[in-house]
Amino acid sequence: MDCVFCGIIRGDIPSKKVYEDDTVLAFRDINPEAPVHILVVPKDHIASADMIDTTNSEIIAHIFEVIPQIAKDEDLTGGYRVITNVGPDGGQSVPHLHFHILGGAKLPIHMGV
Ligand code: 5GP
Ligand code: ZN
Repeated sequence: MDCVFCGIIRGDIPSKKVYEDDTVLAFRDINPEAPVHILVVPKDHIASADMIDTTNSEIIAHIFEVIPQIAKDEDLTGGYRVITNVGPDGGQSVPHLHFHILGGAKLPIHMGV
């Protein structure tokens, strides 16, 4: 499958990793929209948040356990934003589920990625 994030997970495409375990990888966005801009992805290919169901929701819970650890490691003591875009209308450009962590500055209210 020609998926850029699966390529990063396999190690075929280089990335700046900030966290990894058996099921989750987090790496810096190649085109950061904030001083800290990290993408958190499940290692299993899930197309988007629209594909979350009872068979794969455990990984989503785990991702949301990992996010506060990453925020702590990145010193995001003032807060941060977590975003997932879904499908073309939602602005999703990479069809592998990912959660953006944005922080390191006071973000504009309507800022998206
Ligand atoms: P989306 O638009 O799907 O919500 O977010 C995709 C994000 O992936 C974008 O912010 C984009 O900069 C990032 N991205 C796309 N290709 C690569 C890549 O090869 N490496 C990294 N680190 N980020 C990427
Ligand atoms: Zn993928």
